[in-house]
Amino acid sequence: MGLFGSFFTKFSRSRATPEDINEFRKVLIESDIGADFAEEIVGLVEREKSEELSKSVASHIRASLSDSDRAIVKADGRLTTILVVGVNGTGKTTTVAKLANQLKSSGNRVILAAADTFRAAAVEQLETWGARIGIPVVIGKVNGDPASVAFDAATRAKNEGFEYLIVDTAGRLHTKSNLMEELGKVRRVVEKVSPIDEVLFVLDGTTGQNGITQAKSFAEAVSLTGIVVTKLDGSTKGGIALATERALKIPIKLVGTGEGATDLSAFEPDAYISDLLTQP
Ligand code: GDP
Repeated sequence: MGLFGSFFTKFSRSRATPEDINEFRKVLIESDIGADFAEEIVGLVEREKSEELSKSVASHIRASLSDSDRAIVKADGRLTTILVVGVNGTGKTTTVAKLANQLKSSGNRVILAAADTFRAAAVEQLETWGARIGIPVVIGKVNGDPASVAFDAATRAKNEGFEYLIVDTAGRLHTKSNLMEELGKVRRVVEKVSPIDEVLFVLDGTTGQNGITQAKSFAEAVSLTGIVVTKLDGSTKGGIALATERALKIPIKLVGTGEGATDLSAFEPDAYISDLLTQP
């Protein structure tokens, strides 16, 4: 990605002029890092000597991120349940499939629940993924109750000794109370069968500052344990990931970098920041 790389390459040897700083401010804002965060970084750049520039910006960004564990939880000796939530179109269903594929590849038995019952296409999409990656998918009636699909899937997962259940949820954002009601119900019925271990919020990395607003709505509806940032392949907008983690204090756990089954990686803050600052 290297959004800021060319700036730091240029000024590792000389001091930036006010015009250069303005240009840099523009790049920061365009990356969706947010106005406050951008001003803090510009302030640092104005104060620092050129040799220390990228180092101090890197440590400032790192300090604003969470220190919590970024690994996907695995419950000890029982089913691990993961809810995947987010606005439609952000990459939820694709992320469910990629994560399932990753967990299966590391030796786990995984089952999926297609609880986005309001969109027939979403259910079909998950079934297609399931067939492709060799993972069972529990489905329900079109327009049926998402919570009942989630409940059936949890029951089967527990009875049949699966290690992971991943639930793809509906991302309708009609009203906040509607969302809270729906996600709250899914959560409650699944927890009758087995505890929920992760609630991952899917954030479209190209979505702009609106991503923070979306994340806040979901965080109010159901308590989130991690963020997955999608569509970072070829994007120049990766700043929203950092801004959202900083605003919500929820760790980014995974990063989506394409539409394929294996295009999902663990989020490594140091490498991510270093790429941002060093690659041109
Ligand atoms: P949902 O409505 O939130 O379930 O979103 P989908 O999983 O259907 O994804 C919406 C679109 O984004 C699809 O065309 C996906 O192939 C695409 N997509 C999802 N994740 C990524 C990603 O990491 N990179 C890219 N380039 N496309 C993605």
